[in-house]
Amino acid sequence: FKRVKVKNAVVEMDGDEMARVMWHLIKKQLVLPYLDIEIKYFDLAIQVRDKTEDQITVDSARAALKHKVAVKCATITPDEARMKEFHLKKMWKSPNGTIRNILQGTVFREPIVIPCVPRLIPNWDKPIIIGRHAFGDQYKATDLKIPGPGKMSLVFQPKHNPGEKKEWEVFDFPKNGGVTMAMYNTTGSIESFAKSSFELALKRKLPLFFATKNTILKEYDGLFKDIFEKLYKDHYKTKFEELGITFEHRLIDDMVAQMLKSNGGFILSLKNYDGDVQSDIVAQGFGSLGLMTSMLVTPDDSVFESEAAHGTVTRHFRKYQKGEETSTNSTASIFAWSRGLLQRGKLDGNQNLMRFAQCLERSTIDTVQIDRIMTKDIALALGRTDRAAYVTTEQFIDAVKNRLNRTLQNWEG
Ligand code: NAD
Repeated sequence: FKRVKVKNAVVEMDGDEMARVMWHLIKKQLVLPYLDIEIKYFDLAIQVRDKTEDQITVDSARAALKHKVAVKCATITPDEARMKEFHLKKMWKSPNGTIRNILQGTVFREPIVIPCVPRLIPNWDKPIIIGRHAFGDQYKATDLKIPGPGKMSLVFQPKHNPGEKKEWEVFDFPKNGGVTMAMYNTTGSIESFAKSSFELALKRKLPLFFATKNTILKEYDGLFKDIFEKLYKDHYKTKFEELGITFEHRLIDDMVAQMLKSNGGFILSLKNYDGDVQSDIVAQGFGSLGLMTSMLVTPDDSVFESEAAHGTVTRHFRKYQKGEETSTNSTASIFAWSRGLLQRGKLDGNQNLMRFAQCLERSTIDTVQIDRIMTKDIALALGRTDRAAYVTTEQFIDAVKNRLNRTLQNWEG
């Protein structure tokens, strides 16, 4: 097989623990032997982030802005225990948050469907992609305990007409007090979110739903609904109709009911909190965390970053450190690479690269579906607990390579 020439560079963000072990195997066995590619490498291992005062994360995100395509390995987000474990100078922020803030994008999570792997919802035979508006609402709220009786109100002080200050009474608290909260979002952020959602629907040729509870939060969710509907009418309706796809706003309760009854095959965009909850439901529903991918898409679809949606799989890494055998699923990490390569191929008009990325995905799925070679999480999903039912982390990647080589032989033939 003659290596495919890749014109423009791809940014690689390396990570931690078991995810890093798999990442290196994938790069060495499934990517580098087949591609003549320039990789801009950034090591986001926790030790390097600590040493560079997290500058490496910022640099990697800037490189993603410049080169347009990035692939990322899962990374540790430090907490108290990690501070001690790695003697960190500071509790560095989540790299994903930092990268998202610099790229200003929206995260969409997508499951990989392998037909033989049972789904919690058996009729879900196509992926359900969940978009989460990762800004504001409950995550930036001021929430308070009210200790005793008294009046709670909201005040708005306009910047340009200070005389037009407004005040709304929220609640007159009784004897034992209670709790209260004020949250916000911005028109600009909602517009970006809507744009990212419409662009992804066009790119993937999939119907788009946006769900809120606008019957209860008439102003708050009403603004979200209005922004989506106006943008659709003004900019996207014709393009959607040309592709034969649809956009609809739904009430969230109707939407989740419909989602359960559906066959999948659509994008569902949600507000911050709803997206948090629903993406975990979808992750569980499709069989294993090792089958969930995640992509960061900018509103104008100009920058793309893909990664596995799971973490660094610490539990398995502890075994690996002791020299024990592991059976960690690398499927989502392989797809992080293939999706990035596919995007690079699209942007460069490189048909061979796109075809290679598709072959890599096909080979990974067929290793499980046709060869019945799988990791422990998938064997468990199939109801198998015996040792003969699964292979090790390394053996699975070897098996994918075998399949890939066989697939690529047909490429030339
Ligand atoms: P995790 O996703 O790493 O693992 C949770 C459990 O899910 C595992 O114990 C395992 O049973 C299962 N699992 C996950 N991925 C699997 C795979 N590929 N194959 C087989 N089983 C798999 O989450 P965690 O243990 O809560 O977090 C570990 C570390 O990962 C933390 O330090 C956290 O900060 C980090 N994290 C990073 C990201 C990211 O970079 N995107 C996301 C989540 C967590």
